[in-house]
Amino acid sequence: MMPIGIFGGTFDPIHFGHMRTAFEMLQALRLAEVRFIPAGAPPLRDSPLADARLRLAMVRAAIDGQAGFVVDDREVRREGPSYTVLTLAELRREHSDRSLCLIVGMDAFLGLPKWHQWRELLELAHLVVAHRPGWRAPSMGPLGELLVDRGTGRSGDLHERRAGCIYIHAVTQLEISSTEVRKLIAAGRDPRYLMPDGVREIIEQTGCYRSKR
Ligand code: ATP
Repeated sequence: MMPIGIFGGTFDPIHFGHMRTAFEMLQALRLAEVRFIPAGAPPLRDSPLADARLRLAMVRAAIDGQAGFVVDDREVRREGPSYTVLTLAELRREHSDRSLCLIVGMDAFLGLPKWHQWRELLELAHLVVAHRPGWRAPSMGPLGELLVDRGTGRSGDLHERRAGCIYIHAVTQLEISSTEVRKLIAAGRDPRYLMPDGVREIIEQTGCYRSKR
């Protein structure tokens, strides 16, 4: 059975940087699917501007019709902080024999030691790290050591084992971030070509990133 890709994020809003990364991972790593899991209450950052239901609706609109892309709303439904380790533990229970691949950008990977029970993550899933512009893989510290221990250059390991490997995969570099998208919209500019039109329409209709000034 092919591995399941898990792509968590705040998605405030989702953009083509997320979607292209997920698509390239789906194809290159021969994943059965990529599951987009919007965080209900992301524990390590300020509250998102758009509420969880709206961010979920934007993710649904973004992936609509794309084979292999799936939305999973469990973190939006769950009370309390959206700890990835809880989500992975649930998915592990649901898919005891499957390989699970948690997809993160390099910036998110570098912040991993701040995540709740971060060392448990690799007991539950593989970590697949996407290169992002301006970020480099760590060579020292706990993550540098973890890479020496768990890093693999073989994507086949993601199929042969259920969890425990770190695989770094270069994806097309699209220098788009949700922060910049929100700023651009607040400044009255149009986010066309940074995200799917369905997402733009929701942003336009709800005015969720409009400047409050
Ligand atoms: P913000 O600017 O609000 O921090 P973001 O654009 O980084 O948001 P998130 O929802 O925080 O988006 O990111 C979810 C995941 O997608 C993270 O693992 C992040 O590293 C990754 N990611 C975000 N933007 C890109 C991009 N342009 N290319 C590749 N990965 C990305």
